[in-house]
Amino acid sequence: MNTLTLAHYYTTPDVQEMADYVGDSLELALIAQREKADRIVFAGVKFMAETTKIINPDTQVILPDEAATCSLVTQTDIDALKQWREQYSDHVHVSYINSSAEHKTISDWIVTSRNVDDIIADLYAQGEKVIFSPDRNMGAYLNYQYGYEMPVWNAVCEVHDKFKDEQINYMMKQAGSEGNVFLLAHPESPLPVLKLADFVGSTKQMLDWVKEFKGEAHNIFIATEEGLLHNMRQLRSDLNLQQAPIYSGCQCNACPYMKRNTVELVKQAQQGKGFEINYLDEDTIAKAVKPIERMLSFSEKQMNKSAA
Ligand code: SF4
Repeated sequence: MNTLTLAHYYTTPDVQEMADYVGDSLELALIAQREKADRIVFAGVKFMAETTKIINPDTQVILPDEAATCSLVTQTDIDALKQWREQYSDHVHVSYINSSAEHKTISDWIVTSRNVDDIIADLYAQGEKVIFSPDRNMGAYLNYQYGYEMPVWNAVCEVHDKFKDEQINYMMKQAGSEGNVFLLAHPESPLPVLKLADFVGSTKQMLDWVKEFKGEAHNIFIATEEGLLHNMRQLRSDLNLQQAPIYSGCQCNACPYMKRNTVELVKQAQQGKGFEINYLDEDTIAKAVKPIERMLSFSEKQMNKSAA
């Protein structure tokens, strides 16, 4: 059996070493679609494995640990979401990929942190009205950054939501003079943190920023899940890259769900043992795949444009 192992950047380095590909949710979704494996082991969280199954319904998709979920999913009650969506029936419903399969069935577009700005800008350019779910922080940032007035659902990433602007501000002041200290932040962080950031972007965009950084930096603080620091340091061991603080004296910011992917469980999943995504019925897959395909085709066009 042809088994493909995918790992998200937020998994531990030893798990990443077991993977054929390491990436963010968009990269991994595109790889899963391209590779045509018989079995995909997804070292990540449940919504990612579900997304992989939705776009590859004939492939066996295994999540090493069923408990690897995401607070953006568990904080979203689907019945309440349906009522909210009905309240705005004349709006386009844009949902972050960090959402359950059922959530995707009542969405018009799925976005990742890498393409959310462009997709929503495109919808507004076409004169559409937009509602955004489930990430409150990301929605608040988009409204602030672009002057939108999108109604936004109220769930957060429990990891990124812990970053606090006061502590980061204090740390940055201690670290050096302006111009030599930088803050990169993921848009799942709270708006006051994002307002402080020199760069706001997805995991891949932050990696690219670090890779291409030229000049002098005394310290570069990173406000995202700690796993990404490993990938950044592999790319640029010459830079002083540090985790942004969540409260005074603490440098910890790990996603408990991503860390459920242990070496042992990934090994077992590669042998077909683990939590198989086999509970999505045809109707759910048929409805959920549409907004995902819209996103994949939008991103593919954009990538072709920038490659041209
Ligand atoms: S880091 Fe946050 S958004 Fe990502 S899986 Fe963990 S809880 Fe969910």
